[in-house]
Amino acid sequence: MGMVAPNEKKRFTVLGPEDVFQFECHPGLGCFTRCCRDITIFLTPYDIIRMKNALHLSSGDFLAAYAVTMIGDTGLPVVILKMLENDEKACPFVTNRGCRLYPDRPWACRIYPLQPESTKITEKAGTAYYSVMDVDFCRGLVSDKIQSLSDWIGQQGIPVYHEMEALFKKITTNDRLIQEKITNKKIQEMYYMACYDLDRFRRFVLESTFLDRFEVSPEAIEQMKTDDVALYRFAIQWLEYGLLGQHVLRVKPDVMAAQKQEMGIE
Ligand code: SF4
Ligand code: SF4
Repeated sequence: MGMVAPNEKKRFTVLGPEDVFQFECHPGLGCFTRCCRDITIFLTPYDIIRMKNALHLSSGDFLAAYAVTMIGDTGLPVVILKMLENDEKACPFVTNRGCRLYPDRPWACRIYPLQPESTKITEKAGTAYYSVMDVDFCRGLVSDKIQSLSDWIGQQGIPVYHEMEALFKKITTNDRLIQEKITNKKIQEMYYMACYDLDRFRRFVLESTFLDRFEVSPEAIEQMKTDDVALYRFAIQWLEYGLLGQHVLRVKPDVMAAQKQEMGIE
C-alpha cells in the first residue's frame, strides 16, 4: 500500500480550528487562476458592499453588471457572480496576474480550498468546521506547506465576513422563513433591496416617508448616509421587524396611535 498524502486523508475529514491542512497558492503554479473560471460563487450582502465600493459603483450598477439573481429554496432571492460569456466562463475580475479585486474578493474566494461543514451538531457546538475541497487541477493542494485552519482564516481576512454573515443568518436561517416558503413578490423585492441593493435601501430610508414612521436617532441617520456597514446592520433590523415580526424597530407614537385608531383598538 502506498503512502497517503495528508490532504487525501483530510479531504474526508472535518477540520476544527486547531487542525492543519496542506495548501499553497502562488503565480508560479501551472494552474494559476484556473480556479477563477466556470464556477458558481454566491455573493453575500457584505461581499457586494466590498466589491461595489472597490469598483466605485452603486449597488444597483454592480448588480446589473456583475450579478445574476435567482430565487432560492426558501423563496428568497440569492445573488450569484456572473461569469463572462466566453468559452472559459471566466470571472470578470481575473487577470493574468491574479484577481484584480483581491483585497475585496468575495468570501467564497477567500475560504477556498476549504468549505464549511455545517450540520446541526457543529452549529450547536458554536464552532466552525471545514473540510478541504477535492479539486483535481489545483496544484496548491499537493504543496508541502502546512497551514493551520485558524491562521488561514485570519490571513484571508475572513473574521469580518463571518461577523457580517452572522447578521444575515438571523434572517436566512430563521425557522419561520424556512418553513413558510416566500412567494410574495413584494416581500422578495423588499428583501433583495435590503440585503443586496443597499444604495437603493439608503434612498428608501432617507427619501421616503420611512423616517416619519420609525424612530431612528439623528446620529444613526447621519451614519447611514455614508457608512454602508451601518446601513446594512439597519437593513437587517428592518427585515427582522418586517419579515419576522420582531420588535427591533420602534414605530413613532403618533403613527402607532393612528394605526390603533384605524384598527378600532382605541
Ligand atoms: S493552486 Fe489552486 S487556488 Fe491556486 S491558482 Fe491553482 S487552482 Fe487556483
Ligand atoms: S473574484 Fe477574484 S478570486 Fe474570486 S473568482 Fe473572481 S478573480 Fe478569482
